Amino acid sequence: MPRFFCPVPLHTGLNLDLPAGAARHVQVLRLQPGATVTLFNGEGGEWDANVTRMGRADVAVAVEGHRAVEREAARAVHLVAGITANERMDWLVEKAVELGAASLTPLEAARSVLKLRGERADKKLAHWQGVAVAACEQCGRNRVPPVHAAQTLAAWLASPQAMQAAAGARLVLSLHPHARPLADAVAGATTVTLLSGPEGGLTPEEEAAALGAGFVPVTLGPRVLRAETAPLAVLAALTLG
Ligand code: SAM
Repeated sequence: MPRFFCPVPLHTGLNLDLPAGAARHVQVLRLQPGATVTLFNGEGGEWDANVTRMGRADVAVAVEGHRAVEREAARAVHLVAGITANERMDWLVEKAVELGAASLTPLEAARSVLKLRGERADKKLAHWQGVAVAACEQCGRNRVPPVHAAQTLAAWLASPQAMQAAAGARLVLSLHPHARPLADAVAGATTVTLLSGPEGGLTPEEEAAALGAGFVPVTLGPRVLRAETAPLAVLAALTLG
């Protein structure tokens, strides 16, 4: 059944004009009055809704029963990932959401090719948030993980998120020979913050700053994985295992 993110208060019996994005999607799918769709607003659970009217651009629905179902990962994995070039970052955001990431912070690493400022940064953030919503619509998550504003490692380490991360396991993906295996570093932690580099890797200064802040260097083995493969492999291991 088609699922749409509808970030407004929802309750059984509500008659609602769908927000523009969802309405457009219903139009594209050529749904007809009487069709059933699923709505979620990120506040918990999902609703069945019946299409009651198809206008030229607007779509009205009647909200029916609520299901208190969540499809979140048992382990909260927060990703702080070096911004990669072109569509690779979209791919990373999409797959990370599917694999259950609890939040994503695009890291403006020293070696990130893409540097975002001002209006361009705002647009890119809105775009990545849209990718996260679309991934939730597709995969069945009813909680949309936050995609935070892109920031440098120094800014992130000084942020409230970094403080919260200190309560769980903090891992930095590292090619250093003394990096530890993933399973050892995670042990039984239920909250994990994972820092990974862009295509060119983290600089020695960035890695030293992460280690100085308490991050544990973690290896994924002898093969050098692409910047988007490495954090996704960890997410898969930690959320599906
Ligand atoms: N030449 C770069 C370097 O020396 O750092 C390679 C960077 S790699 C393509 C991109 C990122 O993926 C790295 O910064 C690291 O975070 C992660 N990564 C890739 N393979 C890894 C592995 N085998 N173990 C740990 N981290 C890995």
